[in-house]
Amino acid sequence: MEFSSKLLEKAVYEMSQLPGIGKRTALRLVLHLLRQPNEQTLHLASALQHMRNDIKFCKSCHNISDTQLCEICANPRRTDEIICVVEDIRDVMAIENTSSFKGLYHVLGGKISPMDGIGPNDLNISTLVTKVKEGHVKELIFALSSTMEGDTTNFYIFKQIQDCDIVTSTIARGISVGNELEYTDEVTLGRSILNRIPFEASLKS
Ligand SMILES: [Zn+2]
Repeated sequence: MEFSSKLLEKAVYEMSQLPGIGKRTALRLVLHLLRQPNEQTLHLASALQHMRNDIKFCKSCHNISDTQLCEICANPRRTDEIICVVEDIRDVMAIENTSSFKGLYHVLGGKISPMDGIGPNDLNISTLVTKVKEGHVKELIFALSSTMEGDTTNFYIFKQIQDCDIVTSTIARGISVGNELEYTDEVTLGRSILNRIPFEASLKS
C-alpha cells in the first residue's frame, strides 16, 4: 500500500496491529476518523490511554476492575461460599447477564495450554487453591469452556483441592462441545448454572 503521507501510514499501521483488522480496514477506520471532528479522535485516544493507565485487577478474584476490590466481590448481597471459576472477564459478563448466579468468581486469566507455553504458574490458580484451603468456600463451580485445555485446567485445580471438604461441580453443558461460554445464549447458560452437575460425574461421561 502506497501512502502519500507518513503520518497516515503510521496511523494505519498501528490500527492494523489489532486482531481482525487488515490494512484495508485500518485505512477505512483512519480515514473515517479524519472526516470526523477532532474531538472524536481525542476521546478515543484518551479513553484507551486511561484504560491502560488506571485499570486494576481485583485483588480477590482477579477480574478487571476500577477498584482494588471489584464490585462483585464487594457486594454484601452475594455469597462468598460459592465460587465460579472462569477463564476471563467475558465469562463473568456472560454469567452476570443471566442473573442466575449470586456467588463470586475467580478469574484464571486463561487455560492451561502446553502448546502455547501456558502452564499452571502463568494463571491465577494458586490464589484460588489458597482461598479454598482457608475453609470458607463450600462449593467450586467450574465454568471453563469444554475444550481439551478447559478440561485439563479443571482437572488440575480439582487435584489440588480434592482433599478439601467442598462440593465441586461443573456447569451442565447442553451446549455443543467446543462452544465458548461467551457465545452461549443467556437462557441456556443460566439454566446450566442452576442445573450444574458434580465434577466427578462429568469425568466419567
Ligand atoms: Zn473481585
